[in-house]
Order: sequence, then C-alpha cells, then structure tokens
Amino acid sequence: MRCDTCRQDVPLVMRVVVAKDYNRMLARPLYNCPACFSRKEEAKSVAGSRLPAEKTPRTHVKE
Ligand SMILES: [Zn+2]
Repeated sequence: MRCDTCRQDVPLVMRVVVAKDYNRMLARPLYNCPACFSRKEEAKSVAGSRLPAEKTPRTHVKE
C-alpha cells in the first residue's frame, strides 16, 4: 500500500477520514503510514483546540 502523504510504499497504512472543517483541500479519505497518521492527528488537535500558552508555572530549583 502507498501512503497518500509521503508517497512511500509501506506495509501498513491507516485510513484517515479528514474532518470537513479541518482541511477542505483534503476532505477525503486518505491512506497514511503510521508516521503520517500521527502527524495528522497532531495537526488536527492543534487546529481544533489550541493549547493554552505556557500553562505550567516555572519551577525554581533550590540550590
Ligand atoms: Zn506517510
């Protein structure tokens, strides 16, 4: 099978159904290798809900 994203022949591909409001250019099922799949999942979560900026307070280590 071939990955639709990186065009490599991979033994395993995962079908990604892209949400319509995620990216209209890619609003179709894609076959992705696991690497591209997780990359897309990351992109999706970043686009969907932006991470709160620097939520963790700085910790000062006592010396
Ligand atoms: Zn790929």
